[in-house]
Amino acid sequence: YNREDFSWSEDLKRLAKVHWNITQWREKQLQVMNAALDRRDVFVLMPTGGGKSLCYQLPALITSGITLVVSPLLSLIRDQAFHLEEASIGVGMLTSNTSKEENKRIMDAMLATKTSSSGSGGSKRQPKAELEPPSELRLVYVTPEKISKSKRFMNHLEKVYAAGRLARIVVDECHCCSQLGHDFRPDYKKLGILRVLFPKTPIMALTATASSPVIESVLNTLNLAPIGKSTNATLMFDSPLFRANLVYKVLSRPNTNEETFRFLVNYIQTKHHRSNGIIYCLSKKDTHVFAEGIYKASQGQITTSAYHSDILDDEKNYIHECWRDGRTQLVCATIAFGLGINHPNVRFVIHVCMAKSLEGYYQESGRAGRDGLPADCVLLYRDQDASRLSTLCVTEPEGLTNVYSMIKYAQDVRTCRHQQFDNHFSKHSSSKKQIPCGMCDNCLLAGKDVVTEDLKTEVRALCLLVNKLQEVNERVTLNKLVEAWRGVGSLRVIAKVVRDEYETEVVPKRPNKDDYDRIINYLILNGYLREDFHFTAYSTLAYIINGPRSNPFLSKRPLSSLPPVNIEFGR
Ligand code: ADP
Ligand code: ZN
Repeated sequence: YNREDFSWSEDLKRLAKVHWNITQWREKQLQVMNAALDRRDVFVLMPTGGGKSLCYQLPALITSGITLVVSPLLSLIRDQAFHLEEASIGVGMLTSNTSKEENKRIMDAMLATKTSSSGSGGSKRQPKAELEPPSELRLVYVTPEKISKSKRFMNHLEKVYAAGRLARIVVDECHCCSQLGHDFRPDYKKLGILRVLFPKTPIMALTATASSPVIESVLNTLNLAPIGKSTNATLMFDSPLFRANLVYKVLSRPNTNEETFRFLVNYIQTKHHRSNGIIYCLSKKDTHVFAEGIYKASQGQITTSAYHSDILDDEKNYIHECWRDGRTQLVCATIAFGLGINHPNVRFVIHVCMAKSLEGYYQESGRAGRDGLPADCVLLYRDQDASRLSTLCVTEPEGLTNVYSMIKYAQDVRTCRHQQFDNHFSKHSSSKKQIPCGMCDNCLLAGKDVVTEDLKTEVRALCLLVNKLQEVNERVTLNKLVEAWRGVGSLRVIAKVVRDEYETEVVPKRPNKDDYDRIINYLILNGYLREDFHFTAYSTLAYIINGPRSNPFLSKRPLSSLPPVNIEFGR
């Protein structure tokens, strides 16, 4: 579809210039639009800021009938509608906020045919030659609830379809369909009905983040054919996830909140004096703690706001506005500050603790630098965050798998960060020519300050200990386990029994307490230990070990024949 000799090619060019003053396509835009205008189902995976909207807004001008856009958030919809109106394109919004009169006006306009012969069932080879007057309705934005809950709207949509007026269905932020993703919305799950009711209307699904399993589950939910080359397959278009202007770093988080505030103030004032940024926190409470802490530690020089889902809508809007125009420099937020935040000149996004998945992290950090200028994406990490996050996410489907992808990223001190994203999202991503990026922490420090230790002996002792604890049905928290491993604490007696039986040694004390967490995280990520959770009043988290057959450290083989356990410490 990378061609310019379709019957609509001239119109594409002309309308892009007229309405958006766009004269050059970005990566994959032309292909997507050609495929869409050829009435194919398409899946578009493009990084935030890559120019997804144009991919359906421009075809909407060329195809007669209306393009129905499902979008998850009111603020997103308003934003899009505003821009379309500015470009003098007929747009309507049907949301919970739409007045009765407006609702009726839009519903009527959806049916007000100029040419009912083309559209969903009609010829695809006859685009309009003339620019439509701006008053003609082209795009209708709805929240997913309209589809899943409003019978009236769906009845109307069936009429629009029957009249040949439903040109295209667009599912924006389509990763919300998948429970495997990080933004799952139950109402998105019901969007499969669209293909059932409107089998002839092509569908376009768009997102900035989706790994292969997420893509598959989105296609499934929407009742779209698998990706492939056959004539009814869904066509996949992905532009590289690589965004050259984003500089990724993982830094170790200081011990206390107070130190962290000082660290952040120093970082922001030296590197991002007066620039806009976001700090992502794990909990609502933390957003307030950090907003206040940073404000105070900077003696009021860094203006901050806290933002999370419990904040009232009016206040949310106000915070957003102040941040956008620079009155507030920094928003400390949960991921509720997310979808729909597309302010172009965000210079830094700092996570003070891990996101719940690498996809989430990519999406959240990707809110930086949408204007293409350099921006920093920093993760402040401590090994002990891992178990906290696991506990939080264990009840979610794929929760642990997602968390492990994030921990792996945080612990990797060698691989280019962009390479890591590419590896994770790999199956469908393409261009690797700009990786390694040469700018991220791992590219710059390439193994510097990293100490690699082979900890076979220690790991064997730990695995044997865990195995014994499991045998006697003793469930332990991470701290207790580490104590026993070091021969102290309440479990020291049982630990001694294990040592005597297997002739292992007490594990020497390490100068950095976090090292123990790092070792255990390594063992979990590599399948030697498995996290097991049980919920009681006191301990919520216990570690048990994989069965002896899968764990070589439980065998009687000599140490030298066991696989190496090279754990990297540092930075
Ligand atoms: P996304 O939805 O992928 O995050 P948008 O569709 O909001 O990104 O586009 C981001 C910005 O890029 C918008 O301001 C848009 O007008 C602009 N844009 C899109 N395509 C082009 C293009 N081909 N040339 C120049 N600017 C473009
Ligand atoms: Zn790199």
